[in-house]
Amino acid sequence: MRLVVIGGGIGGAESVRLASSLSTDITLIEPKKRLECQALYPEYLSGKVDIEDICAELSPFCSKLGVEFVNERALGITSNEVITERDEVEFDVAIVAVGTTQNFFGIEGGEKTFSVHTLEETIKTKRELDRRNPSKIVIVGSGLTGVEVSCELAESLEAEIYIVELMERVLPTFHPRVSSYVEKVLKKRGVHMLVSKEVVKIHDDKVEFSDGTSLECDMVIWTAGIRPVPFVDSTPFPKIKGWIKVDDFLRVDDENYSSIFAIGDNSWVEIDGKIATKTAIEAERQAKHTVKNLEMMMKDEKLKKYKIKASMDSPIALISLGCECAIGVYGGLCIRIPKLVYKYKKWIDTSFVKKFKS
Ligand SMILES: Cc1cc2nc3c(=O)[nH]c(=O)nc-3n(C[C@H](O)[C@H](O)[C@H](O)COP(=O)(O)OP(=O)(O)OC[C@H]3O[C@@H](n4cnc5c(N)ncnc54)[C@H](O)[C@@H]3O)c2cc1C
Repeated sequence: MRLVVIGGGIGGAESVRLASSLSTDITLIEPKKRLECQALYPEYLSGKVDIEDICAELSPFCSKLGVEFVNERALGITSNEVITERDEVEFDVAIVAVGTTQNFFGIEGGEKTFSVHTLEETIKTKRELDRRNPSKIVIVGSGLTGVEVSCELAESLEAEIYIVELMERVLPTFHPRVSSYVEKVLKKRGVHMLVSKEVVKIHDDKVEFSDGTSLECDMVIWTAGIRPVPFVDSTPFPKIKGWIKVDDFLRVDDENYSSIFAIGDNSWVEIDGKIATKTAIEAERQAKHTVKNLEMMMKDEKLKKYKIKASMDSPIALISLGCECAIGVYGGLCIRIPKLVYKYKKWIDTSFVKKFKS
C-alpha cells in the first residue's frame, strides 16, 4: 500500500509515526521543516519554553522510520495523486491533515496584526514584543488561545493587556461556569476584558469598534478565528462551512474519494449528532483511529466507526492561565487544581513533541 500523508502537524505526523509499523510505503508532504506544537506558543511568548521544546525536525524523524519526506506544499489532489510544487505523488490511500489558517473575517487592518497561529508568526510576535516594549496590547478573541496569550503576557510584561470578545463572555464556546471562573482569573491577573465588542477596523495605533468607540494601543495580537487553508479550498471534496465533510470512518464523504481520509482541524467531523472540536486531542485520536482503519483495509476487514471524544457541546481542554496554573475542562466540569493541572498539561505537550525527536 502506498500511503501519502499531507500535512506534518499533530494529526499528520502522528499518522506517519503510527502507520510506520504497518507494511506501507509512506510519503509525507509538508512545506515546513519541523513539526510544531501550537499548544506551547503562548508560553514561548512569555519565555517559559524554548523553540526546541516546541518542535521536532521532520527530516530525521522520517529517515528513522523509512518514510519519504517531500518538503513541499501540496497544491492539488485527485482520487489517486497529489500534485506538489515540483512533483506528483501517486497513492493508494491518502490522509489529509493540513490544519487551518487565520481568519480575519475581512476586517480592515486584520492582516497587519501579530499572531500566534504558526511558529514563524509566534517568533515574529515575540521579537516585536521584545523590540517595542509596548505599554498597551490588545488581544482580539477570547477563545482558548486568546485567554492563554493574555495570561502569559500579563504575567511576563509590565504592559496593560486588553482582551476583546465579540460574544458576551470570554471562552464563549465553553460552559458558562468555565467562562466565569476564567474571567475571575483574568481579572486577578490585571487583564482588562471587553466583551460584546465588535472590532471593525485595526489601525497601527488603535482598534475601532462597531459602537463607535476605539481603544488606543501599541500592538494588536489576533487570535479571533480560523478558516480552511487554500489547499482545502482547491479540493473537489464535499464541504461544510468550507471544512472537508467526512463520513463516520473519517473518509472524504464522496465515493469518488473513498481512499482519502481527512482528519484534524481541516475536517468537519459530525458523528451521532456530535461535532468534533478542532483540538490537538481530536487530531491525535483521529490519526490513531485512521491508522487502525488502514490496518483493517489491509486485512480486508470492515472499517470501524470513529467516536468523537471532545465535541462542541462537551469540549475537553487543558487551559493554562499563567503563573504556572491551568484548569482542566471536561464538558461542564471545571477541574481547579491549578498547579497540578499545569504540570500535567506541560508534561502532555512536551512529551508529545519528544515522540518525534530521533
Ligand atoms: C496558540 C494555540 C494553542 C493551542 N493550544 C491547544 C491546546 O492546549 N490543546 C489542544 O487540544 N489544542 C490546542 N490548539 C489547537 C491544536 O494545535 C490544533 O487543533 C492541532 O494542531 C490540529 O492538528 P492538525 O494536524 O489538524 O493541524 P496542524 O497541527 O495545524 O498541522 C497542519 C500541517 O499542515 C501543513 N500544511 C498546510 N497546508 C499544506 C499544504 N498545502 N500541503 C502540505 N502541508 C500543508 C502545515 O504546515 C502544518 O504543519 C492550539 C492552537 C493554537 C493556535
